[in-house]
Amino acid sequence: MSAVAGLAPRAAAFAAGDARVFPRRASWRRAPLASSERGARRASSSSPRAAAGGSDKSHETDVVVIGAGIGGLCAGALCAKYGLRVTVLESHDIAGGAAHSWKRDGYTFESGPSLYSGMSQWPTTNPCGQVLHALDEPLPVINYNTWMCHLPEGSFLTEVGNDQFSEVLERFVPDVDGVNAAEEWARLKELMKPLASASSALPPSAVRTDPAAAITLARFVPGLLRAAPALPQIMAPYSKFLDANEFKHPFIRNWMEVLCFLLSGAPASGTLAAEIGYMFDDWYRPNSTLEFPVGGSEAIVDGLVRGLEKNGGRLELRSHVEDILVEGGRAVGVTLRGGARIDARKAVVSNATVWDTLKILPDGAMPEEWVKEVEETEMCASFMHLHLGIDATGLPDDLEIHHIYVEDWDRGVTAEQNMVLVSIASVLDPSLAPEGKHVIHAYTPGNEPLDLWQGLDRTSEEYKALKKERAEVLWRAVEKAIPDVRSRVEIEMVGTPLTQQRFQRRHKGTYGGTGWITPDADSVPITTASTPLDGLLVVGDSNFPGPGVPSVAAHGWSAAHELVPFWKQCEMLDKVCP
Ligand SMILES: Cc1cc2nc3c(=O)[nH]c(=O)nc-3n(C[C@H](O)[C@H](O)[C@H](O)COP(=O)(O)OP(=O)(O)OC[C@H]3O[C@@H](n4cnc5c(N)ncnc54)[C@H](O)[C@@H]3O)c2cc1C
Repeated sequence: MSAVAGLAPRAAAFAAGDARVFPRRASWRRAPLASSERGARRASSSSPRAAAGGSDKSHETDVVVIGAGIGGLCAGALCAKYGLRVTVLESHDIAGGAAHSWKRDGYTFESGPSLYSGMSQWPTTNPCGQVLHALDEPLPVINYNTWMCHLPEGSFLTEVGNDQFSEVLERFVPDVDGVNAAEEWARLKELMKPLASASSALPPSAVRTDPAAAITLARFVPGLLRAAPALPQIMAPYSKFLDANEFKHPFIRNWMEVLCFLLSGAPASGTLAAEIGYMFDDWYRPNSTLEFPVGGSEAIVDGLVRGLEKNGGRLELRSHVEDILVEGGRAVGVTLRGGARIDARKAVVSNATVWDTLKILPDGAMPEEWVKEVEETEMCASFMHLHLGIDATGLPDDLEIHHIYVEDWDRGVTAEQNMVLVSIASVLDPSLAPEGKHVIHAYTPGNEPLDLWQGLDRTSEEYKALKKERAEVLWRAVEKAIPDVRSRVEIEMVGTPLTQQRFQRRHKGTYGGTGWITPDADSVPITTASTPLDGLLVVGDSNFPGPGVPSVAAHGWSAAHELVPFWKQCEMLDKVCP
């Protein structure tokens, strides 16, 4: 699943979001930035070249990308593939952003995603799989199809790709008010079929925002026409589908709430049905499988970096962008901490969150309406992370890689400290831990409140005590998988929203944007990398439809297709959408 909060399936939401153009609604605007944060934006529109050293990095290029997260790397690598000169500037000393990894004592620790599908199989509707294919960077993966659930009903193994889940329901879930869970699941699967195919009818790689879209979209019209009856359903919150079809069994409703939250960081009422349709298409097809990249998420990042560099692009690490330069009403480049200036002839693409992008734009560069939209875009909560290296002696060979843990359905899946995801990646790829050891990443998927942590001193006793207290639920979840885990620990690291803020340069440590979809809405926002400022594009999970590797890869396609002529895009479509 995409994260758990960001499972793979976000792509179709993006595609669907682009299928029709709707006005943005006021209802998704919320959470203004504090005035002190706005003050952090730069007053000047251009900085002196090499003001404080570091001028060695100054140069001119076609496209500057701020940030080497998956979205920034997809945008940069695709632009390079299209023949543009590209420089990707990453603040950290490692690329990947939310998907970066680090090594310690022979373990490879992963900061974020571990649940993927459609990344290596071909053809694929996953926009990130399509980017890798466009770059001729095949991703070696380990296929699997199971994950463990530890739910209030009990612990059981579930599978994607066949009817095993119905058997689980028969076995573990009692009837409620005469409603049988397995029968409801079978009905739901059937009713999801048209939504599933409609959700994949329009790939993000086909979309562009100029009139030539009529040409790039033409080959998808027959599929869209076939999908037409289901389009109103996929363009609405998923809760509408569940209500309209009278799904009543509490377990089925809870389970779909879990999947929605994992996919979008929002409940069913805030999740576009297209996202769930895409997931069903990917997961509940006969013989479908999940894919774990050999080497972990780092392998995806490495593939994108190779794709960038072999097409002439460059990645500059330890390069923190302090200002976006705006001259003559156009974004023309950036300055780095230390003073280097990089000029962008065609565009600046920001992979920083929109809230962080706002801080590095000069005051007055953007229309007030855009600034207001950004300031009011709702933020997903964040994560508690528990990273462990453990002694694996005597652990069963059939230990599962993924475990979903929910403590109490009544609290709701969006409640803090209630749902945990556990990934034991070395179960599938032993190279990620020393021989005889396992590496574990447990996290609360996008439900740790941001404001609980803001203002705390990371060296204080108060911070340490809060970390210990808030990590307890993670231990309880891991103990479901490995009951004596505490006695096996060799390395332990706990991360908080402040860790996420610090190491991923994300405003308050947020998981990304949310709140665009509401139950009473009759429209959804469009997804595009373009902004009202000429030459400035934005990509990444603070933009609709929010978190997930597929959705940010879709932004990468969108950014590239703002910059290249339609005929080059058509050639690319021949390759990635056969
Ligand atoms: C714990 C966790 C689990 C997840 N699980 C899954 C999963 O299983 N499946 C899935 O599909 N998705 C998952 N996701 C979601 C997915 O990983 C993210 O949505 C996605 O990777 C975010 O990519 P992004 O393009 O928005 O960039 P980010 O990852 O946010 O990267 C942005 C980059 O920009 C850099 N930057 C910011 N400001 C500057 C600046 N001023 N100058 C230079 N550089 C700057 C940052 O350092 C960072 O490297 C998960 C996320 C997390 C945190």
